[in-house]
Amino acid sequence: MADGAKGALEAVSAAERQSHFTGGCQCGAVRYRIATDALISYACHCRECQKQSASAFGISVPVMRANFEIKGTVKSWQRPTDSGSVTDCHFCQQCGSRIYHAGANRPGMVTVKGGSLDRADTLAPIAHIWTSSRQTWFALPEGLPQWETQPVGETEWMAMLGLNV
Ligand SMILES: [Zn+2]
Ligand SMILES: [Zn+2]
Repeated sequence: MADGAKGALEAVSAAERQSHFTGGCQCGAVRYRIATDALISYACHCRECQKQSASAFGISVPVMRANFEIKGTVKSWQRPTDSGSVTDCHFCQQCGSRIYHAGANRPGMVTVKGGSLDRADTLAPIAHIWTSSRQTWFALPEGLPQWETQPVGETEWMAMLGLNV
């Protein structure tokens, strides 16, 4: 798994906030900052992510809510998830770019939309999920973990992210 993945989902105290990542919406009205030394991401090929991104797949970047600072006005809507929870989907009120999701089942965490990061080019997904609904022209990278649907339960999710404890 990615080096430094262990640190990716740990809450960072204010005094320790030296390393960070930045990002924002398409128009620039919403900007955010993530205090962490490392980020991890996975690609989701489900129909929801295809619709949400208006593209082939979504890139999800889980981060601790405590490490996520956002400026600018976002609106949100809510949808049910496959695991039986609901997720709040936050987007820029001006340009509509999706910024992050907050699932009711993981209150301490948010999932940032990877394409909104300023340095999205450096963030290669470590796994692919919902490959059963992927767009057929997309060739899945060899050697990466894949799920036809998605990990089941928190243990399998954390294992996918390289956070086995
Ligand atoms: Zn915007
Ligand atoms: Zn998805």
